[in-house]
Amino acid sequence: MDRRHLLRNSLALGGVLGLGGCAATPAPTAAPAPKPVSSTTPLMDRPPVLAPIRAHADRFFDFKVCLRPFRTKGPNLGVEQVGDAMVVHNYGHGGSGWSLSWGSAEMAVQKALSRSPKEVAVIGSGIIGLTSAITAQRAGAQVTIYTRELLARTRSVRANGSWTPDSRIALTSEAPANFGDTWEQMARISWKNFRPYLGLAGNPIAFTDHYYLTDAPRGTPQPVDPTWPKLPPPSWTGGPTSSEDFARYSDRIKDITAHPQDLPPDVNPFPVKYASRSTSMFFNFTEYGHLLTTEFFARGGKIVMRDFHSPSELGHLPQKVVISCPGFAARDFWQDKAMVPVRGQTGWLIPQPEVNYALTYRNVQILSKSDGIMVMALENGELKGYNNSDESVNRAESERAVKVIEDLFARFPVNRA
Ligand SMILES: Cc1cc2nc3c(=O)[nH]c(=O)nc-3n(C[C@H](O)[C@H](O)[C@H](O)COP(=O)(O)OP(=O)(O)OC[C@H]3O[C@@H](n4cnc5c(N)ncnc54)[C@H](O)[C@@H]3O)c2cc1C
Repeated sequence: MDRRHLLRNSLALGGVLGLGGCAATPAPTAAPAPKPVSSTTPLMDRPPVLAPIRAHADRFFDFKVCLRPFRTKGPNLGVEQVGDAMVVHNYGHGGSGWSLSWGSAEMAVQKALSRSPKEVAVIGSGIIGLTSAITAQRAGAQVTIYTRELLARTRSVRANGSWTPDSRIALTSEAPANFGDTWEQMARISWKNFRPYLGLAGNPIAFTDHYYLTDAPRGTPQPVDPTWPKLPPPSWTGGPTSSEDFARYSDRIKDITAHPQDLPPDVNPFPVKYASRSTSMFFNFTEYGHLLTTEFFARGGKIVMRDFHSPSELGHLPQKVVISCPGFAARDFWQDKAMVPVRGQTGWLIPQPEVNYALTYRNVQILSKSDGIMVMALENGELKGYNNSDESVNRAESERAVKVIEDLFARFPVNRA
């Protein structure tokens, strides 16, 4: 038996043992004693024993569809006067809203407080609205949120929830020349603001190892699965035609994020030829959302349920400084033609707290969170869902995706013993 086989066995066996003493589990003494692994990879960098994911379509208990509020020119942080009110915009964060929220809030609040208002109104209670409201409170303002939905019903909680600060954030051809600098500032401020939420009960924000598995070496074209649907011909002109058209800035913050490491064959625990690993931050929405909402109320914040139908209504609010965070709804509300919907769907498998990693394989991403194991299909890169505003669930999409992971776990040698 070669070392790699042993490691694969140890992954599956470790997982079974990790599930904790069920009657069918053979006595540990019955298992062959694993031989020490010799490798040039230092012990600290070898993957730990990983629990298997119970990837079966019948374990899906939820599906979520959301529209990323993509703005081809990057987020709008402009200021305009509406009647008596100064409106500061804070919308259009594409696939990066959770990640950039605090930095964007800081910039919007600085503009809002330039008039030294005692009271501030915030429109929207998605992640951008909530962080804007709390940032204004921390700076001493009294804040009222006006919203038609509370956080739990917003598009924000239908996201994936990883640190992805430059996912669908702008088109290279349309982003303002200095947007890279603004983005970097937003990303760095956010990163600092996440720090106090690490290590708290319930892990509102945490780090996880993410394994990237490929059939061909990383960075080379991967075999294409012929069963994936083809991207429809673009129904827009001048829009992106490939992932390369989307602005990318993460190289600017390489100093604060972990770099991917290739796993040599003798420490690659997966039955796939190539594996690399990086460690990244993610958000557990329930716990994190609860902390944010609690802080907002503890600081005397008020929430008024209200649906605005035209910008002129903002001019009649008692607060004369308004931060507008309507997410994708800005396209119609503010008649912002730069807003493009980017549909995304996630399927949720019953939580497995023993699974403490994420993985990406054959265009499927898995992320184990406290409230479920997220399964997301990624085919067509950044273009997936571009200009698609259909928010209905396509169950087949999630079932196809989980089948990829089911097949992956079926390939572990222990299943063929
Ligand atoms: C599938 C998917 C995966 C994603 N993954 C990630 C990720 O991993 N990391 C990441 O950082 N980002 C991710 N995102 C992006 C992120 O979810 C968004 O950028 C973010 O949620 C936008 O938040 P928001 O507060 O601007 O908008 P929303 O959550 O849509 O909130 C808008 C708020 O405004 C209110 N509102 C709107 N119009 C009105 C009105 N007329 N009157 C009153 N109230 C109004 C709404 O009720 C709501 O409260 C993902 C998105 C999707 C779809």
